[in-house]
Amino acid sequence: MIIMNQPNNMRGQRQAPPGRQNTGYQQRSGSARPGQSAPKPRSGIRTGSGTPSGIHRSQNAGPRRQNSFPSPTVTRRQSYAHRVRRKQRNAVTGIAVFLIIMIMVSLLLLVVRDINWDVVFSDKNHAPFQNKENIVYGPDLTPEERDAYVTQYVTVSAEDVYRGHCILVNLEHEYHFREDEVGTEIFSVYKNKTGSYKVNSGKELLHIDTIHALNDMMDGFYAATGSRDIMLNSAYRTYEGQQNTYDYYERERGHEYAEAYVQKPGFSEHHTGYACDFAVYQEYEDGSSAMWSFDGKDQYFWIDRNGSQYGFILRYSASKEDITGISYESWHYRYVGIGNALAITTMGVSLEEYVTNTKSYSYDGDRYYVRADDGKEYAIYYVPANGKAEQQIPIPSTAIDYDISGNNVDGFIIAVQIGTGHALQN
Ligand SMILES: [Zn+2]
Repeated sequence: MIIMNQPNNMRGQRQAPPGRQNTGYQQRSGSARPGQSAPKPRSGIRTGSGTPSGIHRSQNAGPRRQNSFPSPTVTRRQSYAHRVRRKQRNAVTGIAVFLIIMIMVSLLLLVVRDINWDVVFSDKNHAPFQNKENIVYGPDLTPEERDAYVTQYVTVSAEDVYRGHCILVNLEHEYHFREDEVGTEIFSVYKNKTGSYKVNSGKELLHIDTIHALNDMMDGFYAATGSRDIMLNSAYRTYEGQQNTYDYYERERGHEYAEAYVQKPGFSEHHTGYACDFAVYQEYEDGSSAMWSFDGKDQYFWIDRNGSQYGFILRYSASKEDITGISYESWHYRYVGIGNALAITTMGVSLEEYVTNTKSYSYDGDRYYVRADDGKEYAIYYVPANGKAEQQIPIPSTAIDYDISGNNVDGFIIAVQIGTGHALQN
């Protein structure tokens, strides 16, 4: 609404369309035009209804009332008529603008559709942060903007150093138990398994990620060999469970055996939910059955050969006894995630050595690249813990998937699944 205490001449100037606004102009200019009223005092309120100017206004005003007094009402009626016409004009203008915008958006969509976003966001040469100039960027960006453009950050806590697929738990690095891990991360294998393998008691628990990977690996084993004889013999263990295991073997086979094969409570990989002990359980046609140690030979060599494709490694190999401190265990497999398992297998190292080796690789420097049989490719790098309650882990925005794991020592090992079809350097 117009401010009513504004001089009428101003109002007339603003509102009246060309050719209709005479009263205000006349008053302001002080010069009468032919057939128009004489100049009037520049009063805020028009007086004298029935004057030529009043008649003129009433012609423009709406039909409801004429020559009302005081004259602000006249102005209001005049404004009403003007507003109607203005709204009509605005409507026409609005429709025109809308149509123009729609045409421009349609054209823009046609252009955007033809852009190959895979190329725009790809990390050429498979090492975007070693060859930042190779990345296809948008318009000129500062180096800081580039980093923000191609990097996402994932927040981890100090406690996360002790969590994740790749944590190293051995005689020197104790497992950090969490009270609520059973039911949030650790679940029943029996209730979640496929039919491609067996479980010993049905009470076995594993980390849910291990169960999924184990299902995939055993489905693969069954598809390759036709055998469903592998049995999960031992899985997640609580502190007390490990104590019982140690006591059992010490009692049954002696202190020396227990020291060689069974870890002290708190230092067993079985606390993590990522460790599996396999056995072979065979049923015969006459109804009898037998349980064998998993020696990893013959058809069972398939697990050793292909386990890394599913994220598993043979944790205590014969050639690494002096490093792991554990005698060769053909039956003990450890889930570390696919990227890490492929890297460990390709490097030909133990998990102990891997945790050390990964420190040579960083987000901004060299990364370690591996490729799975299915063509998926992974980049591995290390980020040291900064000692603060929280820290940001950089991940390339080009990552298809990523796996951030503490190493249970001093930092984080990141395995990023990157785009396929690149030429690997190693
Ligand atoms: Zn074991």
